[in-house]
Parts: sequence; C-alpha cells; structure tokens
Amino acid sequence: MSIKRSLRLSIILLSSLPIIFMTVLTYAMSYSKYLQMAKSSASTIAYDYSRGFEEQIKFQTAEIESLATSSVLQNIALENFNGIASGDASPYYSQAKELLKTTSSHMSHNVSYHLYDINGYFIISSDDDGHGDWNEYMTIPVDSITSTTLLKSTNINKCTGCIELVTPIMVKGTVVGLLRATIRSEYFGAFVPADGSAIIVSSDGEFLIMQQDTKISPDIVSDALDLSDSDQDNSYICENEHSIKGICGYSRIDGLTGNDENTWLYIIQPDSSEYQKVLTTLPFTFIITLVIILIISAYISNLLAHKYTAPILALKDNMTEAANGNLNVACDIHSNDEFGELSDKFNTMMNIISTNYTEIEEAKKTLEANEIELKKSYSHIEQLAYHDGLTGLYNRVAFMKYAFEIFQNDGPNLGKHAIFFIDLDNFKNVNDTLGHDYGDLLLQQISNSLSSMVDDTDILARTGGDEFLILKTTFTTKESLSKFASHLIDIANEPFNLNGEKAHISMSVGIAMFPKDGLTINELIKNADIAMYNAKTSGKNAYRFFNSYMEDDFNRKNDLADILSTVIEKNEVYLMYQPQVSVTTGKVTGYEALMRIESEIVGYIPPTEFIPIAEDSGVINQLGEWALYEACSFNHSLMQSGFGDLKVSVNVSTTQLQDDKFIDIIKSIPEKTGMDLKYLEIEITESVLMNSFEHNLELINDMKKLGVSIALDDFGTGYSSFNYLTQIPIDTLKIDKSFIDGICNNEKDKCIADSIINLAHKMNISVVAEGVEDKEQLTILQEQFCDTLQGYLFSKPLKSTKLIDLLVDLKKR
Ligand code: C2E
Ligand code: CA
Ligand code: CA
Repeated sequence: MSIKRSLRLSIILLSSLPIIFMTVLTYAMSYSKYLQMAKSSASTIAYDYSRGFEEQIKFQTAEIESLATSSVLQNIALENFNGIASGDASPYYSQAKELLKTTSSHMSHNVSYHLYDINGYFIISSDDDGHGDWNEYMTIPVDSITSTTLLKSTNINKCTGCIELVTPIMVKGTVVGLLRATIRSEYFGAFVPADGSAIIVSSDGEFLIMQQDTKISPDIVSDALDLSDSDQDNSYICENEHSIKGICGYSRIDGLTGNDENTWLYIIQPDSSEYQKVLTTLPFTFIITLVIILIISAYISNLLAHKYTAPILALKDNMTEAANGNLNVACDIHSNDEFGELSDKFNTMMNIISTNYTEIEEAKKTLEANEIELKKSYSHIEQLAYHDGLTGLYNRVAFMKYAFEIFQNDGPNLGKHAIFFIDLDNFKNVNDTLGHDYGDLLLQQISNSLSSMVDDTDILARTGGDEFLILKTTFTTKESLSKFASHLIDIANEPFNLNGEKAHISMSVGIAMFPKDGLTINELIKNADIAMYNAKTSGKNAYRFFNSYMEDDFNRKNDLADILSTVIEKNEVYLMYQPQVSVTTGKVTGYEALMRIESEIVGYIPPTEFIPIAEDSGVINQLGEWALYEACSFNHSLMQSGFGDLKVSVNVSTTQLQDDKFIDIIKSIPEKTGMDLKYLEIEITESVLMNSFEHNLELINDMKKLGVSIALDDFGTGYSSFNYLTQIPIDTLKIDKSFIDGICNNEKDKCIADSIINLAHKMNISVVAEGVEDKEQLTILQEQFCDTLQGYLFSKPLKSTKLIDLLVDLKKR
C-alpha cells in the first residue's frame, strides 16, 4: 500500500474511530436513559391510574351502597321478598326506576343499575330495555353476596369490558334483594383509556376490565403477573400485539370491595411513540453525523496525505531519475520542514555523486588506458619471461612449458621425439679474450644459424650461457638425427666474424631419443646432457647419442663427487711427490706434489678422473687447500731434516684461483707450516691461466710479491703463446709430456722444444721437461740446455717415506 493511501486511511480511522465510539456510547447511554425514563413514567402512570381507578370503584361502591339503602329500592325489594310482586304496577316502581335512571345518568350512562330479588329474578333496571335474571350475567350464587362485591361480568355479549359491582339490599339485617351495577370501562374515563392501552386483571389472569380492542397481549399480562411479586420498578419491557416493543407499567390494586384475597393488577402500556421516534431517529442522526465526519476527514486526510506525500513522491521521482542515470537531477521542495532539508541534502548528495561520477569516469578512462598499457607490458613481460633477451630464442622456462605441453597433449600417440643438448666448447675463452660483447655477438650468430636449421614444429631454446636445447618433434631414423647433429656441428666449421674479429668455436652435442632414452622431458634432457658431457670429455666438437654406459659413467661421477666430499676427514687423500732433477747437476732441486685418493668404497681413483669431478663439485678448493698445507709442511720438515733447499710444486685448479680466500691461504702457509714461501711453486696450466686472465694476472703478481714462484704447466697443449708469457711474471715453464714424447723421433717436436727453451731462457724463465722417460730424451734435453727434468726416467711419483729414502740415498752418494 502506498504511503499516501496508508496515511489517508490512518487519518480517516483516527478521526472516525473516536466518533464511532462516542456515537455508540451516546446511543447506548441515551437508550438506557430512555428506558429508565420510560419505565419510571410507565410505572408512575400505572400507579396514578390504578389509584384513580380504585377511587372510582370506591366511589361507585359508595354510590351503589347508598342506592341500596334508599327506601324506594328497599321497599320494592321488600315487596318481592314478601311475595307481593307487582312489577311495574308497584307503587315504588316508577320511583325506583327514576332513581336508578337518574343515578345512571349521573354516571353518564356508563354505569347501569339492576335490582334482583333474593332468588336472582330481575326486578328493575336503569336501562329501558328488558333485562335478564342474575344467572344470565353472574356465575356466583345469589346467596353468596353478603357485602358489596366486585365481579367480572360473565355476559360479555351484553357488555364487553364491563365489571359488575353487586351489593345486598338489607332491611333490618336481612338481605331482601340484590343491586348490581354494571360499570362500563368508559366510566373510568382516562384511567381505563379508550385506546385499549390499559387492562385490569385478577391475580388468576382473568381480565377484569378490558377495552374491546386492547393492545395488551396475554404475554404482557403473564409477564406482569410474574413480575408483580418481586419487582420494585413496577415496569418492564413489553410487546404489543404488533410485536412493537414498548414499556409497560403495572400497579397492584389490593383488597377491593369484598374481594380481600383477590389482588388485581393494573397494566398500562403508555404511548411511547415519541421516545420510539427519538430512538429510531437517533441512530440515523448519528450515522448521518458519522458520514459527514467521514467525508470531512476523508477530505482533510486527502489534503494532509497530499501535503506529506507530495514531497516524498517528488523525492522518489527524482531518485528514480537519478537511478536511471540522470545525475543532474535536482529536487525543488522549498519548505521549512524536514522535507525541505531532505531536498537540500538530496541535492548536495547528487552534487557529490555527480562530481564523483565525473572523477570516476575519468579514473575509469585512465584505468582503461592503463589496462592497454598493462596488456602491452604483459606481452612484453611474457616476451621477457619466455624469451632469451640476447638471442630472442625461447628460454628454459618456455622450452619446458611447450615441450611439456607436447608430451602431455600427444599422450599415448606420442611419436618419435629427440632432444638435442648443444653446448659450445670453450666459449669462455671467447669472452675472456675478446670480451663479453663479442661473446654476445657470437651467441646471436649461432642462434640465428640454429634457428634456420630447425623445423617449425621443433622447439629451439637457449637454456644457459652457451647451452641450447632442441626438441625435434618428429624424425624418421637415427641416421637422420646423426645427419642433423653433423649439420649442427658444421655451423662452427668456419670461424665466426664478430665485427671484424674472427672467433673459432666448436660445439658438443648430446642426443636423447624418446622413448628409448627417457619417457619424460626432464629425463630426456638429463640424458641428452649426459651424452653432451660425454662428447665434451671425449674431445669436444662432436655429437653423441645417449647410451646406458654414459649413464653409468655419469652415475660414477656422481658417486665420486659424494666420496670426494669426505676424503679429507676419512684420511683417504694423500700426496705423492715426483722429484725434479737438475739436468746439469743431476741433483734433486724440488718435487711436484701429486694428489692421490684411495677410497674405502671404490678403491684407487686416478687424479685425471677425480680432479675434474672435484672441480665440478667445487670440493677441489678444500682438497687444494689441504694439499698446499700438507706439501709445505712436508717440505719444511724435509728441509728441517737437512736435505737442503727444496722447492715444492703444488698444482692449483681454476676454481681455486677464483676463490677470494686463495691468497689468504697462501699468506697463511708460513704460519701454518713453518715453510717460507720462497720454497713454494704454484703450478698453473695454460688453460687455467687463460680462464679470467686479468684476475689471474693480478693474483700471480700478489703471490710473486709474497715470494711464491709460478710455473706454467702443460705448456704446448693449449695456446702456447709467447705473447702473453711476456705479460705474466712466471718463473718456470713446464713443457708438456706430449712434446717430450716426440723429441726423439719428431724433428718438429724437437725443434719446438728447442725454441721454447731458448725463448724461455731469454725471458729468464727456467724450463722443466715433463714426462721424461728415457735417456735419449735426456740427452736431447741436455743438448738443448733444459734446466730441469721430471719423469719416470728419474723417478715416478713417490710416497713421502719413499722420497725421504731417495733423498737419503742421494745424500749418501
Ligand atoms: P700434471 O700436473 O701434468 O702432473 C704430471 C703428471 O704426469 C702426473 O700424473 C705424473 O704422474 C705424470 N708423469 C710424470 N712423469 C711421467 C712419465 O715419465 N711418464 C708418464 N706416463 N707420466 C708421468 P698424475 O699424478 O696422474 O696427475 C695427473 C694430473 O692431475 C696432473 O697433471 C695434474 O694436472 C693433476 N693433479 C695431480 N695432483 C694434483 C693436485 O694436487 N692438484 C691439482 N689441481 N691437480 C693435480
Ligand atoms: Ca703439474
Ligand atoms: Ca703437467
């Protein structure tokens, strides 16, 4: 229900309910008051009229008794009593008739008098017409009348509504006749109203007097009789013969003329039409008043409802419009009440919303612009996340994602797939010699070449510094893969031109095939890696298909890496010492410390096997540190024992040199071992030296400052460049065994060795020939003025005790 409607209804209800209530109350009170008044009036009328009626009866009683004592009536009665009945011939007849007539006329002929003898025979009457005997009118016997008695007329045909008053005519104490007065109701005048609204009944309910068309019904009579014993009000509600409700009053008339035991009741139903009119008009008046009030209150309620709901509706309309998007809507309620205030607040609120909306719109536009930017950034980020910044190829993440998707999507229908693991050989050298920019350029060129070789369905990625992966999603035979791998390696056949600089590079490739070499992408990559590693360890610049031996090899390496991590604490590592002998004097000038490992689990592990593993796992740093202290301690103890000045040469790996702590370890040697650093020689291979040349140069200079000698190991196997020898302050050059092996049979090798020794000497560098096994070699080296020899010819690497024995032996000679 709308507010307007409910407000209207509330006002109507509020205004009309009290009026309805008051109306009903007033009506109820008026009705009860009317009843009270009507009842009291009816009872008063009944009392007054009954008293009047009683008085008239008493008057008539006195009248009839006085007539009974008139001599003329006594005489005529006596005549009859004595049997001298002479009828109208009697001398008293006319006189008596005249008396009765006169008396009757005094009563306006409403009372007629009749004289009877003691036997009830008619004698004379005030009426002109003849009259019947006693029995025709009365039911009680004549002789029962001994005093004036009031009786009901039995001959209703003759006189309706009459009562009879009879009295004995006494002469000297003897009843000589009876006088009967028939009293018409008219006699009582107003006391017995002609309209029949009153009635007199005897206590047995018999009508004593009643008008012919009485309005009093038998029910009214019986009600009055019931009530008369107890009721004090002498009034009650009654219905007339038309069932119209009215108020009846009654009054008891006790002990009238000879009827002591008889109680009569006077019942009257006074005219109550005026009251009735009031009672019937009253509700109409009230209803009309009510209707008028309702109309007025409806009108007022309408006005009020309009007054109070109009602003609400206006607000509602405005809000609806605002909700539909019109934010410029304004409310124009100009009143000094809350609605006016509400309207102002609404307008303020709409202002704020409108302003905010504009701001939000602008913010939204900015956001949308940002979103476009973000999308761009996102694709850029995606590009970064999935691509290698340098080459534009996929990175490892992308490779794994797409490869995984292929493996997952192809599911059981997975065909032949192969993973190629490509690793550039000695790429670090390019970086170190030409710089990183050139290294980058090389990687880009290699990437372009690789890209041009793969099919659209293949996935190519740069997964590490110089590592590439190719997933060939389909292939026919193993031979086709071999062919592809050869093509890959051929990329590096010709040197790369890097902004004018030429770079020689090769690559090692490992191949793993699905499903033979692995069922998952991770397993295939791992095995391709193993195969690549195998290609590297067996000389680089080659491709290898994965096989289970490689895996065994790989597993052994893993096992050895585990073993190596505990060899120091388990005392499974020790040093052997190979003496270095002066070519000219034959004296032992020093010795090289060579590491040995005897594992409890796998037995003897040759250094050529464990050194690369220890370098890979990083454990070489601990092992190298241990070897330095061990060798120097031993050398110190030898010198302490009087074997003269001896130099101990200790090999170091590239990872040791990269370690920031290395120089501190060197510095701590005198304190830890007691040996002066001038007796220490550090052996660095050419390749180790070239690995971060600048850094190593600095380190070498630092060591030199501490008094440490530097030997360049395995000279002739790598760059063998005299160019950088001038830059590095080395003390010793160790010609690799491969050259020494050939100096007897190969003129070229002999020549090279000769030039090396010459050049070295010119740079004040002493030369050690490694791997000298026979005297022929020794002779040539002597001819070439090589300084020192180290080889089986003189001694194999010896355990510390054996070396001591040798030194003791030599001393004896
Ligand atoms: P290297 O530094 O060139 O060591 C010389 C190697 O030549 C030693 O092999 C030695 O036993 C061997 N040798 C010496 N004279 C002859 C000979 O007349 N004939 C033959 N056939 N071989 C000879 P070894 O001890 O097996 O060491 C192999 C390599 O392991 C070493 O080559 C060195 O690079 C590395 N190495 C050994 N001990 C250490 C160490 O303590 N630290 C590091 N970083 N590397 C070590
Ligand atoms: Ca060495
Ligand atoms: Ca060597």
